[in-house]
Amino acid sequence: MTTPLRATLDFLLYDWLAAESLTARSRFADHSRETFAAVFDTCERIAREKYAPFNRTIDLQEPQFDGEKVILPQCTHEAHQAYAASGMLSAAKDYAIGGMQLPYTVEAAANSFFALASISMGSGLLTVGNANLLMVHGTEAQQQAFALHEFSGRFSGTMCLSEPQAGSSLSDVATRAVPDGDDFAHDPLGPRYRLTGHKMWISAGEHELTENIVHLVLAKIPGPDGKLVPGTRGISLFIVPKKLVDVQGQLTGVRNDVALAGLNHKLGWRGTTNTLLNFGEGRYPVDGRAGAVGYLVGEPGRGLACMFHMMNEARIGIGMAATLLGLAGYYASLDYAKNRPQGRPVGQGGKDAAQPPVRIIEHADVRRMLLAQKSYSEGALALNLYCARLVDEQHTGAPEAADEARLLLEVLTPIAKSWPSEFCLEANSLAIQIHGGYGYTRDFPVEQYWRDNRLNMIHEGTHGIQAADLLGRKVLMEEGRGLRLLAARITATAERASGVPQLAAHAAALAGALQEVGAATQAAWATGDPAEALANAVPYMQAFGHTVLAWIWLDVALAVLAQDASLKIATDQGRMGAARYFYHYELPKIGAWLRVVHRRDMTCAELPEAAF
Ligand SMILES: Cc1cc2nc3c(=O)[nH]c(=O)nc-3n(C[C@H](O)[C@H](O)[C@H](O)COP(=O)(O)OP(=O)(O)OC[C@H]3O[C@@H](n4cnc5c(N)ncnc54)[C@H](O)[C@@H]3O)c2cc1C
Repeated sequence: MTTPLRATLDFLLYDWLAAESLTARSRFADHSRETFAAVFDTCERIAREKYAPFNRTIDLQEPQFDGEKVILPQCTHEAHQAYAASGMLSAAKDYAIGGMQLPYTVEAAANSFFALASISMGSGLLTVGNANLLMVHGTEAQQQAFALHEFSGRFSGTMCLSEPQAGSSLSDVATRAVPDGDDFAHDPLGPRYRLTGHKMWISAGEHELTENIVHLVLAKIPGPDGKLVPGTRGISLFIVPKKLVDVQGQLTGVRNDVALAGLNHKLGWRGTTNTLLNFGEGRYPVDGRAGAVGYLVGEPGRGLACMFHMMNEARIGIGMAATLLGLAGYYASLDYAKNRPQGRPVGQGGKDAAQPPVRIIEHADVRRMLLAQKSYSEGALALNLYCARLVDEQHTGAPEAADEARLLLEVLTPIAKSWPSEFCLEANSLAIQIHGGYGYTRDFPVEQYWRDNRLNMIHEGTHGIQAADLLGRKVLMEEGRGLRLLAARITATAERASGVPQLAAHAAALAGALQEVGAATQAAWATGDPAEALANAVPYMQAFGHTVLAWIWLDVALAVLAQDASLKIATDQGRMGAARYFYHYELPKIGAWLRVVHRRDMTCAELPEAAF
């Protein structure tokens, strides 16, 4: 039986994004819609058997630290093994290193089955991102010793950026890296340093799921005066394995000086350990000395630039995670609404208490909450798959198209990450609301979806930081070329839709919204003062995101009508209903958001602190 997610993915991939056409490119020449389907079948099966049944288990059985080891439920070990055995960790990689050369679009879609089934059980997002970074910035020896073993599932990976005092502001990173001995520059695994410092919030920082853990750590190399260089310029990137390895990646038997200081006890996302790690405190001395051994990746002082490689991928991954949690809540509340009898319809004669109660899906307000969830979650899924398709274009398209894809991704990444984090969280809240009191209990899954989803506005750059990136950097970069490129795509969709009677009004609304966003962007920067321009960066991002989602929905609606003009199929009616909902109930909100941006409203920024 085709599941609703599978049907939605098939529609978006093949009928909207023409993903099958990728198989005409030499990199994907061995693939076909059948091979993609086989990957989806495998992922769906593993997600159904190894992930979904245990989503509540991992929420209740949080990771435990016994002083030696971190203990995770057995189901997490089995899920990890099944995922690694499926080959998904290297799905998009070259055949030469054991990959399947799958398009990233298909890989991202395939991973959505795991995210829907159990988001925090882990499907290797960090491990793959970590290994991908090394494939771009690492030496061949680093790739052999670390990355290849991550793709095989033998090792797992982390990203260690945050510190207790340095979260959003990475320029304040205080972890130090000093050369390890006179021969430090001649280690086959790269220039060898000793690291000391504390890394906070590190996901999957300690566990027994894999033989080894490859930490990618941001740290500063002190200058000749022994002081750390202020700002991000001084940040370098290091591989710090939990256990030391030789050039083949075989364990040498020496434990590196990385110690778990403690686990963080989280609101949600409890299937993944979250750790405070102490580097170099001397708990596990190497050669009799304190200091965690780390190998430099890339040039000194270029660490953040390398790390951004991992963060951009991670941000699309977070957008997908938020989206699939939104969809999980939608499916659960739709099922509930179809089965829960409560109340009677309001009609001309008023309620008739003699009649049996109706199912709550018959109430207009419950339908409003369902359609809101559908428009947020399916819209976000479409947006993230569109971004994934741009990643394929960037890597395999003709030069001009590849460059356009790169620039569009720059502008769209903050939206792909942040819009689902905010609005699919709102979807989860509506899913609880539909369940009434039952939604507020742990007897139903929706409260967990909300708790799991609450993370996404916080990590990988908070909402506020993403908004500042969008308005402060992305829409301005390359003299606004990225924004103009996006505007041209939005306009092209609006023009196509303006000739379609059912969509003409939406097309006009979209064109108007685009103009409003453009005018607000200019007005925000009219004085050139970042303090004024960015004071309302989050409302700007909300309006920008809603405009992007309206564009995506209109483009999707065009694809629906292209194949089912008279809307005979119920799922197509559903897509058109969600698009219409978005235009009637959501897009008009941008006026209020943009008004404060436009007039550089300083209400919040200027209220004296004592007045709060
Ligand atoms: C469950 C979980 C998993 C995580 N996993 C990892 C991981 O694997 N690796 C890793 O390195 N980190 C990880 N993080 C850390 C995460 O990225 C940080 O929590 C995040 O960057 C915010 O940093 P902070 O917590 O120090 O908050 P702060 O930076 O102190 O921010 C607090 C608030 O102030 C706002 N704020 C801060 N600075 C500004 C500014 N300049 N302008 C406007 N607003 C501002 C923020 O938007 C936020 O609302 C994880 C966090 C959590 C909770």
